[in-house]
Amino acid sequence: GQAQLYLKNAPTEVKELANTFNMMLSRLAQSWEQERQFVSNVSHELRTPLTIVNGYLQSVLRRQNNLNPHQLEALETASLETERTIRLLQDLLDLARADSGYLHLRKELCLLNDLVAEVVSMAEKYSGRVIKIESINREIEAIIDYNRLKQVLINLIDNAVKYSAADTPVIIKLNLQSEEVIIQVCDHGFGIPLQHQSRIFERFYRVDEARTSTTGGSGLGLSIVKTFVESMGGKVSVRSRLGEGSIFTISLPAAPLPIKV
Ligand code: ADP
Repeated sequence: GQAQLYLKNAPTEVKELANTFNMMLSRLAQSWEQERQFVSNVSHELRTPLTIVNGYLQSVLRRQNNLNPHQLEALETASLETERTIRLLQDLLDLARADSGYLHLRKELCLLNDLVAEVVSMAEKYSGRVIKIESINREIEAIIDYNRLKQVLINLIDNAVKYSAADTPVIIKLNLQSEEVIIQVCDHGFGIPLQHQSRIFERFYRVDEARTSTTGGSGLGLSIVKTFVESMGGKVSVRSRLGEGSIFTISLPAAPLPIKV
C-alpha cells in the first residue's frame, strides 16, 4: 500500500489536484520498482557468466604448473577482480531485494560467541592482523540469520583493518545490555570526519576517494551492514574521531532467557 491523498469534502479543484498528485505518486512508485527490478536483473545476469569465468580461471591456475610468473600473476589478478565483481553484484542484488521487501532471511537461534570467534579467526588469517575479542563471560544468543550477520561482521572488520595502521589492534566486543546484544568493532585508525559520519551508510558513499581508491572497496559495505542489521530488527551506529579511531556498534534484540524451573 502506498500513500494516497484522499479528500472527501474538498472543493472540486482541490480534489482534482489530489487526483493528479496521487497519479504522480503511483507513477513514481512504478518507476522505482522498475529501477529495482532492472538492477536486480542485471546483477543476476552478470553474476552467472562471471562465476563461470572464475571457475575456468581457477581450474587453469590449479592444473597448469608450467605457467611463467607473468602468466601466473595475470591469471591471479583476473581471478581476484572477477571475485570482487561477483561480490559487488551479490551486494547489489541483496540491496535491490531488500528495497522491494524480498530479502530472504533464515532466522534461527544462534550462539553469537561462536559466530564472533569464527569470523575473527577467519579475518586474522587473511589480514595477518591481531584481532582481539572482549566478551562478557557467558553465552549470548540471538535470533538472527547466521550468514548475514557473519557478512555484517566481515564488512566491519574489513573496514577496521583497511582504515588503520598495520600495528594497531582491532577489537571486537560482545556484550549484553538489558534486552539487547551489543557487538562493537573498534579500531585505532584514521577515523571519520564528523560531517561524513551520517552519510557513510549510504550506497557508494566514500569519505575520501583519493585515499580509499587504493583500498579496493566499492562503497557498498556499510549499506549492506545497515540493511542486514535492520532486517534482523537491529540498529547500527558509529562513533569516530579523526586520527583516533572508530567504533561501530550493532545492537540486536537478545533471545529471551529460557524459563528456569
Ligand atoms: P568501502 O568499500 O569504501 O570500504 P564502506 O561502505 O564499507 O565502503 O565504507 C564507506 C566509507 O566509510 C569508506 O570508504 C571509508 O571512507 C569510511 N569508513 C568505513 N569504515 C571505516 C573505519 N573503520 N575507519 C575509517 N573510515 C571508515
